[in-house]
Amino acid sequence: DQTAFTLRRAYGAAHLLNPGDLPPAQHFIDGAFRETPGGDLVDVVDPCSEEVITRVPAGTAADTDAAVAAAAAAKASWGRMVPRERSGVLHRIADRLAEHYDLLVRLESADTGKPFAVSRDDVDSAIDTFRFMAGALRATTTMAAGDYVEDHLSVILREPLGVIGVVTPWNYPLLMAAWKIAPILAAGNTLVIKPSEQTPLTTLKFAELTADLLPRGVFNVVAGKGSVVGARLAEHPDVDMIALTGSVGSGRAVARAAAESLKRVHLELGGKAPVVIFADADVKAAAAALRTASFWNSGQECGAACRVLVHESVAEEFTAHLVAEVTALAVGEPQAGDDIEIGPLFSKTHYDRVLGHIERALAEGARAAAGGSAIPGPGYFVEPTVLVDVPEGAECTREEIFGPVVTVETFADDDEAIRRANDVPVGLAASVWTENARRSHDAAARIDAGTVWVNSHLVIANEAPWGGFKGSGYGRDLSIYALDDYSRTKHVMHHHGH
Ligand code: NAD
Repeated sequence: DQTAFTLRRAYGAAHLLNPGDLPPAQHFIDGAFRETPGGDLVDVVDPCSEEVITRVPAGTAADTDAAVAAAAAAKASWGRMVPRERSGVLHRIADRLAEHYDLLVRLESADTGKPFAVSRDDVDSAIDTFRFMAGALRATTTMAAGDYVEDHLSVILREPLGVIGVVTPWNYPLLMAAWKIAPILAAGNTLVIKPSEQTPLTTLKFAELTADLLPRGVFNVVAGKGSVVGARLAEHPDVDMIALTGSVGSGRAVARAAAESLKRVHLELGGKAPVVIFADADVKAAAAALRTASFWNSGQECGAACRVLVHESVAEEFTAHLVAEVTALAVGEPQAGDDIEIGPLFSKTHYDRVLGHIERALAEGARAAAGGSAIPGPGYFVEPTVLVDVPEGAECTREEIFGPVVTVETFADDDEAIRRANDVPVGLAASVWTENARRSHDAAARIDAGTVWVNSHLVIANEAPWGGFKGSGYGRDLSIYALDDYSRTKHVMHHHGH
């Protein structure tokens, strides 16, 4: 057993939170938290200690309908607000999040087990998303005006869509919420958001912190299950668009449910990002970069660098560097130190799933050059794992594992590398590593993914679009492309001749 990981323990989430840090365990509808007496509750569990932090209500179709009615009633006045005023509200939301920065970091780490470095990055990025959208909305409101036909002035207006239903995942609860909420509000829409039933705390806290900044009904949260609240949002006739970040299966369910009303659908789904390392790459730099890009958020990351394809001539050297990086990763609870890089997986079910993937990979002939096992509990910790000698087509190279696991395969020439990089049903992100500009340009053009990094991986900017091809869905988060997605164009033509 090559295990070298020491789990650094702290005290669990109980010591991470102060009295009053938790948001009300209630839905936020029409500007206020609402009691839902007698309904079902869902446990929110600390993945480090396995203790229950709190319980939140499992919303019903009726709760969802009430939230949609509030959002529908609020949409006309919010949508008519002039850009400068809406922009001001988004700036004030960013300021409010910044004022509660430490609380949001601790709450996110308590709910998900994320190392503080990850939670800090999440909160920083969420604040920046609001600031970017606050500025961008003022620059993109009206598209164009001109005489395109004689004596006719065309004005092309950009309008809000109306009410948007939003469903978010557990891996970046606050950040994925911000990626939706900011452009949706910026474009003049109102919304109902359903956070993951297992990680609702920072979304409910967001509602609490911004309650006095937004007019009632503009922003609503219904906690609960995807199969109830998410499904109702997707089919609801008064919801004009449904936006989901989640798994491919949930994306299909939402698209099907949305078909009846023909509402717009926006899907950010799974990934299986290939990392193509050519023979002329700086393999030491690549290995150092993957320490972060493969293991950020314990690999629970849709763009994670999880599937290495390395040229056979440099495979041994690259793998030695990668194993050295991975075995040096600091594993532990958030409070064990600011240098912690790997936390637990977020839930028992997911922990069992990831371990099942590793077991099947080993059974298929792969070898763990680092890690490969669970770390004894309490807590859902899995060793950072590098799988080598992976047979082509093995399940671990095709299915999203969504944990701290990287597979390493080899290739013989460029065409084979690109063919295998594209040989999965998803296409969210990819990276290519080479010192040759022509090769990087060619590879980036041929790889079927919404983002392709060259000599880098998992670096994201609010100015650039994020989203996938193929089974990774359609629609774009971030950038002015998100504002396009969350609005519609209208052509108004004035005849001004005689
Ligand atoms: P999930 O699909 O299980 O859940 C996501 C959300 O969808 C949850 O809120 C869930 O309650 C809801 N949901 C489930 N079934 C639904 C239904 N029938 N109708 C409506 N809503 C439903 O995904 P997860 O396990 O929470 O998140 C992990 C997945 O998310 C991974 O596949 C990952 O790749 C993906 N992800 C993608 C991105 C991206 O930007 N592309 C970002 C983060 C996560």
